[in-house]
Amino acid sequence: MKFSQMFIPTTKETPSDATLPSHQFLIRAGFILQTGAGIYDYMPLGKIVLDKIRAVVKEEMDKSGANEVQFGFVTPLSFWEESGRATAMGAELLKFKDRKGMGFVLSPTNEEAVVNMVKNRITSYKDLPINLYQIYTKFRDEARPRFGLMRGREFLMKDAYSFHASHEDLVREFNLMEQTYKNVYNRLGLDYRVVSADSGAIGGSGSKEFMVLANSGEDTLVICPSCEYGANIEAAVRKPNKKEPLETVSLEKVKTPNCKTIAEVSDFLKADAFYSMKAVMKKAVYENSSEVVLFFVRGVDELEETKACNAVAALSLEDASEEEVKAAGLVPGYCGIIDLPENIKVFVDNELKEDNNLVCGANEENYHYKGVDLTSLQNLNFADLIAVQEGDTCSCCGGKLEYKKGIEAGHIFQLGTKYSQAMDAKFLDSNGKAQPFVMGCYGIGVSRLVAAVIEQNHDEKGCIWTKETAPFLVDIIVSNAKNEDELAEGMKIYNSLKASGVEVLIDDRIQQRFGFKMSDFELIGFPYAVVVGKKLQDGLVEVVDRKTLEKTEIKVDEVTNYLL
Ligand code: ATP
Ligand code: MG
Ligand code: MG
Ligand code: MG
Repeated sequence: MKFSQMFIPTTKETPSDATLPSHQFLIRAGFILQTGAGIYDYMPLGKIVLDKIRAVVKEEMDKSGANEVQFGFVTPLSFWEESGRATAMGAELLKFKDRKGMGFVLSPTNEEAVVNMVKNRITSYKDLPINLYQIYTKFRDEARPRFGLMRGREFLMKDAYSFHASHEDLVREFNLMEQTYKNVYNRLGLDYRVVSADSGAIGGSGSKEFMVLANSGEDTLVICPSCEYGANIEAAVRKPNKKEPLETVSLEKVKTPNCKTIAEVSDFLKADAFYSMKAVMKKAVYENSSEVVLFFVRGVDELEETKACNAVAALSLEDASEEEVKAAGLVPGYCGIIDLPENIKVFVDNELKEDNNLVCGANEENYHYKGVDLTSLQNLNFADLIAVQEGDTCSCCGGKLEYKKGIEAGHIFQLGTKYSQAMDAKFLDSNGKAQPFVMGCYGIGVSRLVAAVIEQNHDEKGCIWTKETAPFLVDIIVSNAKNEDELAEGMKIYNSLKASGVEVLIDDRIQQRFGFKMSDFELIGFPYAVVVGKKLQDGLVEVVDRKTLEKTEIKVDEVTNYLL
């Protein structure tokens, strides 16, 4: 391509709300354009990068045997009512009605749609397993869309769903997907960690996240430098000690004095401590209640514990309007006491001081529980309640745990039968018995990856794309495009590189000076520039490495080989 024919509106202006380098540079370098809160257009360079990442994801998914499909971006609300997520997803789910009054949603994820696709079409264990995926637009009405492509409302996600006759087979596919994801992130040239994770509103038992390491990441990871252990701090709980739990309690609401107002809850949610505490706490907003409820729960084993935590903890606010609730970053109905399955026992440990992970069962009148004075909770510093702290003993190898910041670039889940049961989707097993499908689901944030690559690869001048993600590998800068010799030599190199399969752009703009073209190169971040200028008289051009900004003089006819 010729730069003169491309639409690349670079600018020196940084949008005032853009705090992250990826947000600033992607806008300044003319990749993307914001049109609304969390809504972006992709201009030509942005579209090329997005498609490149999409292509890598598609290739690796196809290699693993998954089938590409496409679900409607709009799905009937009735699907979501069937699964129970019409309310459980909270305000992130954008619902609307058509002219006939029928309810629909803009799909934020597609478990319901895929179950609908497979139901009554796969009827026998002989047709299992199967893995269906799409790479398509999602919409989530995020409470705080921010950081450019990192947290959009409309964004591009690869979502895959697998169907199995047994849990063992699901585990096999889950492991295959983990490897597939590693292949994707390796090819994209990213430094990332796979960590155990919390399943959030998607549900299910086991889940892992793929975290691109970057200081700007919104997630805190607990990493052991000595072994493979890694967990999102939301999921990193200290292992319960072996001693018998003390008592089973009914799940009464506990009024926590710390957060009585929207503003306090909002501050609390924004505090880092909240992220640490999410390990043992989930949030929800109840209608018709004035209480703020916080539970710190420990179950009998890790699975029970996760389920219990998912179900139990809640925040509720009576007088809050929907806008206020949204502004506080809360998700109505995300989870709550009412969801607690009967078979889950919640145990309370009164050795609060020793374990730091448990407070439960107190009520408004009585801040004493089993001899422990809970009035001190009124002045509780939430930072003290961190489930796992830096420097703790790694429970796998004894190493000292470290915190790192990460960007969630992918998430894989063992769903089990949550959706197939809710939507009555069954197959006949080898004994002719009807069974609900065992499912897994697997997401990659394709558009978030565009930003994640830049968070990890930039300097003060601009983007530094990795080879697999760069819109073009080489930018040939014709220093003075009015000079016919320079332009002709530039075109010669361009054609030679193209013939060798190199993705190359030639900056043939006549009006722009060399310095301007050079700063566009640095801002946009192509891996290499070939400067065709005065040195041509000596048969030389200059190759600039964007990462190091090192310049190397190369003989004109050796450039192609040098860059291959
Ligand atoms: P987050 O914790 O960042 O809100 P999530 O856990 O809600 O993400 P999942 O439901 O796991 O997201 O979706 C799968 C993937 O989609 C995520 O791992 C992430 O890469 C991407 N993703 C989720 N929400 C957004 C968003 N608002 N903008 C861009 N990408 C997103
Ligand atoms: Mg989310
Ligand atoms: Mg998440
Ligand atoms: Mg996730």
